[in-house]
Amino acid sequence: MKNGEMEVLFSREMIDRRVRELADRISLEYEGTEPLVVGVLKGAFVFMADLVRHLHVPCGIDFIRVASYGSGSTSSGKVRIGKDIETPISGRDVLIVEDIVDTGLTLSSLVKILRERHPASIRVCAFLDKRERRQVPFEADYVGFSIPDHFVVGYGLDFNEKFRFFPDVRVLKNII
Ligand code: 5GP
Repeated sequence: MKNGEMEVLFSREMIDRRVRELADRISLEYEGTEPLVVGVLKGAFVFMADLVRHLHVPCGIDFIRVASYGSGSTSSGKVRIGKDIETPISGRDVLIVEDIVDTGLTLSSLVKILRERHPASIRVCAFLDKRERRQVPFEADYVGFSIPDHFVVGYGLDFNEKFRFFPDVRVLKNII
């Protein structure tokens, strides 16, 4: 990257408002249950931390890390688990929390893998959604914001492990 020219796409205030709205909806739909919230590392860690603190239902917390088969950043279409959750999910309501749905390959694969463990239900909450980039059909149950095809960083999202700490979401330009 040549320089750090970045435009703020979603401010802290916008994010905070939207996260509360999502948490309210999720709380209503999970009323009377105690879902296991599974964060996909690393990108979802900030979003998940904010989301669970606004839930009005009790929940368990776990994390999973996925890696693509194949090399580089081009998705081969399949994922493997890098770090697995430590909680049994058979019979449990599972809410996967992800930073962004892009091609849809990661989440469609991950849902398939976790479904084989016979949870009571699996839903997905994605902070961001780049619908126009889909390579496989995938719909998250809850979406923070839909965005056009920009590369974004901040609020947990990185570029080469940088910028995760930004409290807002910014568009990264001049990637070289
Ligand atoms: P996909 O849906 O293509 O399988 O992959 C989604 C993953 O790609 C996300 O979890 C995220 O790690 C990465 N990704 C996709 N778009 C962006 C983006 O605009 N910014 C960042 N930082 N990561 C992205």
